[in-house]
Amino acid sequence: MLAAYGPQHWWPGDSPFEVMVGAILTQNTAWPNVEKAIANLKRAGLLSPGGLAAAPPDQVAGLIRPSGYFNIKAGRLRCFCVFLLEKGGEEALRREETAVLRKALLEVHGVGPETADDMLLYAFQRPVFVIDAYTRRIFYRLGLARGSESYEALRQGFESALGPDVDLFNEYHALIVRHAKEACGKKPDCGACCLADICAANTPST
Ligand code: SF4
Repeated sequence: MLAAYGPQHWWPGDSPFEVMVGAILTQNTAWPNVEKAIANLKRAGLLSPGGLAAAPPDQVAGLIRPSGYFNIKAGRLRCFCVFLLEKGGEEALRREETAVLRKALLEVHGVGPETADDMLLYAFQRPVFVIDAYTRRIFYRLGLARGSESYEALRQGFESALGPDVDLFNEYHALIVRHAKEACGKKPDCGACCLADICAANTPST
């Protein structure tokens, strides 16, 4: 995938906090919608933990409307920012061990494993492999996963196989997302696929 697509230079964001906000906003939506929502927050001067925690929920919801589920996500952003402030801010969290930080993130309302791991890998540079629906789909089709594994089983499987390598995990997850968009979508385009030679589900006729 790296040879086919080149480095992806993830995560798109001007600061670790913006990455964390993006990790919440990208739930169930495409990234271009997140970019519009973040641009709106920036224009309103609210892209900060204090700004988002103090802003009226209706105002935040209106600004992040492009990302979908905007009322729910406005609440999640507020919960996350309150958590961040109560913990002493980003730098205080940065001093925590990865397992402690992951557990704390997972206790925040609206932060599930994928969102927490997005934050850990792309905002805190921790060697945590992000599992998403694209990862499940591609590795199932490749014949390398059953597809029914738990999030934790898959995450630990990748981490054990690859060893703790932040740069590798960063690039690998980004390439998986790119590959899902380029070739291995819901209807795979196996004829144009860079993994066709090693894929158990290679179906060139579809
Ligand atoms: S060969 Fe087809 S099913 Fe396999 S990874 Fe490529 S696009 Fe997906």
